[in-house]
Amino acid sequence: MLNDPRSHGLWQETAPALALADTPPLTGPAEADCVIVGAGYTGLSAALHLAEAGLRAVVLEAAEVGFGASGRNVGLVNAGMWTLPDQMPKALGPLYGPRLLELLGSAPAEVFALIARHGIACEAVRNGTLHCGVGAAGLAELTERARQWRARGAPVELLDAAEAYHRIGGGSYAGALWDRRAGTVQPLAYARALARAAMAAGAAIHARSPATGIVREGGDWVARSPSGQVRAKWLVLATDVYTRQVAAGLRREQVGLPYFNMATPPLPPEIRATILPGGEGCWDTRQVLSSFRLDAAGRLVFGSVGQLATPDFAVHRAWALRAMHRIFPQLRGIGFATHWFGWIGMTGDHLPRLHLPGENAIAMAGYNGRGIAPGTVFGKAIAAHVAGDLPLEAMPLPVSRLAPAPLRRGRELVFRAGAMALHLLSDH
Ligand SMILES: Cc1cc2nc3c(=O)[nH]c(=O)nc-3n(C[C@H](O)[C@H](O)[C@H](O)COP(=O)(O)OP(=O)(O)OC[C@H]3O[C@@H](n4cnc5c(N)ncnc54)[C@H](O)[C@@H]3O)c2cc1C
Repeated sequence: MLNDPRSHGLWQETAPALALADTPPLTGPAEADCVIVGAGYTGLSAALHLAEAGLRAVVLEAAEVGFGASGRNVGLVNAGMWTLPDQMPKALGPLYGPRLLELLGSAPAEVFALIARHGIACEAVRNGTLHCGVGAAGLAELTERARQWRARGAPVELLDAAEAYHRIGGGSYAGALWDRRAGTVQPLAYARALARAAMAAGAAIHARSPATGIVREGGDWVARSPSGQVRAKWLVLATDVYTRQVAAGLRREQVGLPYFNMATPPLPPEIRATILPGGEGCWDTRQVLSSFRLDAAGRLVFGSVGQLATPDFAVHRAWALRAMHRIFPQLRGIGFATHWFGWIGMTGDHLPRLHLPGENAIAMAGYNGRGIAPGTVFGKAIAAHVAGDLPLEAMPLPVSRLAPAPLRRGRELVFRAGAMALHLLSDH
């Protein structure tokens, strides 16, 4: 995308195209009920649900639909957050904790229902995810996670080492947590299809239209772009860690975790049949985690923490080959055909943030690497709030004040350097 082969890799190659002519840059003045800044899952879901409620939504996107994390991620449609279920009420209180848990537990079902309702072609597979336990500590964490979800009636199952090996087709994990609420999508295809559905419902989406200034004028919000401006009663900021030019606080409250993915060519059928025959998406319990899944054509998508700049790229690529071949020896001789990378926005407590930047203005950010299902359901909640159907006190999260992450740049450097050092030394 935007001629950068390291930005969206495989997803750019295989997502159904969205014609730039359908999302032309904003020219001249426009009026709307709500102006949305950012065309990722949050902004697009808000636009779709606003348009379905009969409100005029106009989306301004600095680059292209899905340019941010929504077009670069692994595609795991997860239930819940990193935070353990029992921690949620402790972190958010007895009202919001259970409410958020309930919403995020059922969020994958909401995503797959939306995909079915709109006939979205995005390689959707709902066969669950496998959270793979590394060593005794990893298994202990998963055992506790399984206990807490099962106590809430969630369809999760703790697999032992042999069962995990059987489902994965490789690796030496101590066990795995199989979450049947979850699944996988082609993430850029999902973002583009959300955009198409929003436009079909009446929303306007303007790519290559950065909001360069946002002001309050006569009781309205006015969002300016280089060749036009939108006046609207409501403003939604959905720019997350890719925020630029406006709302700098949304970027500063998150520490950016660089995460890359590399994909093999389509695997020969006899090898493909041995890997993840059930079609689950996987990640592990390591702090510098790895993830892997197949796409619809049988490419293995393998990812981990790290930035694909020079000289990092060579280190991460060599490590990813070693690690992939260790887990799946049947892939020896097969390498990577594409690679891409993006920033994951992390908050201090690993929970997302809801902000009110002014009257009739709302901002959501900080999904901590769990944004497909949450972005979709938060976008819907924002639309319901703007439409007057969901009062602020009924929103899934309490309102927070913007607070910059301490030592942000230093921590981003530590993430980058730590991943480099680990990948340089491990899996030899
Ligand atoms: C490598 C990677 C792997 C991940 N894996 C997963 C996963 O497997 N499962 C999962 O659930 N989540 C995953 N995530 C997280 C998930 O992708 C994000 O949480 C989610 O996409 C955020 O969506 P969003 O709409 O809030 O923001 P984004 O998708 O980042 O969209 C923000 C948009 O705002 C635009 N923008 C910024 N400034 C302006 C401006 N001034 N004017 C106009 N537009 C502007 C940007 O160009 C961008 O397109 C991953 C993220 C990454 C990077």
